[in-house]
Amino acid sequence: MGAALLAVASALPAAAQTPAKDLFSAETGPSAAKPQSIGFYSKGCIAGALEMPKDGPTWQVMKPSRHRAFAHPTMIAFLQRLSRDAAAEANWRGLLFGDMAQPRGGPMKDGHASHQIGLDADIYLTEMPNRRLSRDERDTMPLPSVIDKTTRHIDLRRWRPEMGKLIRTAAEEPEVQRIFVHPGIKEQLCKTAGRDRAWLNKVRPMYGHDYHFHVRIVCQPGSPNCEPQESTGTGDGCDKLDWWFDVALQPPKPSSKPYRKPPPIFMSGLPKACSAVLKQPDAGVSASAPSPVPAAAREPVPVTAFEAAPERAPTPAPAAAPRRLPPPPAAGAPDGFDADAPEAGGMPMPRFRPGG
Ligand SMILES: [Zn+2]
Repeated sequence: MGAALLAVASALPAAAQTPAKDLFSAETGPSAAKPQSIGFYSKGCIAGALEMPKDGPTWQVMKPSRHRAFAHPTMIAFLQRLSRDAAAEANWRGLLFGDMAQPRGGPMKDGHASHQIGLDADIYLTEMPNRRLSRDERDTMPLPSVIDKTTRHIDLRRWRPEMGKLIRTAAEEPEVQRIFVHPGIKEQLCKTAGRDRAWLNKVRPMYGHDYHFHVRIVCQPGSPNCEPQESTGTGDGCDKLDWWFDVALQPPKPSSKPYRKPPPIFMSGLPKACSAVLKQPDAGVSASAPSPVPAAAREPVPVTAFEAAPERAPTPAPAAAPRRLPPPPAAGAPDGFDADAPEAGGMPMPRFRPGG
């Protein structure tokens, strides 16, 4: 028996006992492979991901220290196109992107149950400022909630109609599978949508998501092992919000059981192909070079373009709110858990995931 084989044999038990989030979060670059999403949004991984360029004419990538701006190439192209459409249709200077996926997707150490197969992205409800943010600012800039922490409904001092237009612009894109927003945001969209309401169908209420919204696109061609999510069906969903305000978003009763963290996912709980993705060679620098941005859009934005843009009223800083323990849910959230816990902005965040 060769030394290499011995090493593999002795490494096996350790790998089997290591939570998948530790293995995937240790990956520094995407794999050199054909782009492929494997598994479900909350249980899978991605081969051949691309990294979103840090800056574009109509976007900037936030939270660079997290190293989570990787996604399926179609998602990267979609998000860049959405940022242009938002500028044109929602009068939104540019998008601030949050988490997409880790370089090879998979479970994360903190923050998300989904975002595992490169088809999920968080977009902040804060407009891109008219200057290029420093790396430090991108990690630390306040990204305020639009929800009143006491009433759990929309905070009209922070909500802007453009935010609704932005969410609508995203929901009307055919490749979008669903969008998650705080129930108070969904309620506001329901109130103001008017007669053309079909797009509201894809906008789903969810815990958290009070300072950003979450866009999920459908499984892409070339990903035979990508597991689609059920359709959101028909109807605007505006008649189903009472449970959220009456039950789900209520503070936990003193008698309720304390919250217990769900056990971590191990490699045995992920599709087998994800073990192969971990072993694939690193794509290296090429992973961000063949960006699908058209040449014109890839040109660096001159600083003067930022300086020339009209200044807008500064966004109010978020009120400091003590982080609360999430209430144990009395019933399953209709769409399953998809929280973004570490920056929940004080919103109650049950960290559970009933089914799908
Ligand atoms: Zn998200």
